[in-house]
Amino acid sequence: MSRHSKNNTALAFFTHYEKSQLKYGTQKQRLGRDSMRNFDACFLCLQRAREPLCCSEGHLSCKECMFENILAQKREIGRQQKLYQEQQQLLEGERQRDVDAANNAEIAKFEQTETQFRPSMMSAATDIGEGKRLMDGKVYKSVQTDDGVVYQYDKEENRRRAIEAAEAPASSLTKKKALPSFWIPSLTPDAKLVVVQAPKLETICTATETPHPVSVKKLVHVKFTDAKGDPTQRVCPACLKTLTNGSKLVVLKNCGHLLCRGCCGKFVRPSHKCHICDVKCKDRDIIELQSDGTGFTSGGGKVESTKVNVAFQ
Ligand SMILES: [Zn+2]
Ligand SMILES: [Zn+2]
Ligand SMILES: [Zn+2]
Ligand SMILES: [Zn+2]
Repeated sequence: MSRHSKNNTALAFFTHYEKSQLKYGTQKQRLGRDSMRNFDACFLCLQRAREPLCCSEGHLSCKECMFENILAQKREIGRQQKLYQEQQQLLEGERQRDVDAANNAEIAKFEQTETQFRPSMMSAATDIGEGKRLMDGKVYKSVQTDDGVVYQYDKEENRRRAIEAAEAPASSLTKKKALPSFWIPSLTPDAKLVVVQAPKLETICTATETPHPVSVKKLVHVKFTDAKGDPTQRVCPACLKTLTNGSKLVVLKNCGHLLCRGCCGKFVRPSHKCHICDVKCKDRDIIELQSDGTGFTSGGGKVESTKVNVAFQ
């Protein structure tokens, strides 16, 4: 390397190193084996799972971690639900107040018209269709009786009209809001209530980017088989091969035994029984254990991580 090349920053292009130092635009990083979770590690604490549990989609976790996770979710759901109920009560109270106001408006209007006797208006009844008649601002409906057609006070229709009338000033206000002069105090928007959505009641397994529901009842206790003389290694109980991140593994739902996929195909699927404990095992009781893989693209799992960043032109 010459003396000049050490301080050379005036190249017409960026060297690979210079480009990587910029941290400009979307960054991509290849993940090696060290970034992969071990096949027998808990997806929550990333340590070797103690009292391993497995969800219905094959995600392995410690019993303690999983229970703690589910408990925390339930606590959060409870809190959200309380918040939601409180708000629903508030909204219900407001709605009731609106209805009361409409009722009062109707009564007031009725009293006003009843106390002011105006024969000219009383006689001027206009038909508004469907056998209904508008008289003195009130709606009367025709009812067939033994004495012939009689007009009766239509309570529902009048109530509906009163509610509409009560809401009318509000709608005229919203029309005013369309004006560009938003700074006028009367047109400033009110502080809107943040509507709390009804919380989802189910707990979820967050092992992947697409969470799925999980419950304590459906968790399977996974039984690993340690290698003879070496408790750090795990083997398949059927073929006694040492298990690695590259092995495809299955868990049997009914007994929790863990085998390699090859042995499962050879022994469990044809006999519909667990190879180790003879417990019944149908095809739907076989769960494929999810593994992060080996760091090779062929070894399964995600081997490249991307951090999206803005690249200015
Ligand atoms: Zn754990
Ligand atoms: Zn899961
Ligand atoms: Zn095997
Ligand atoms: Zn078994």
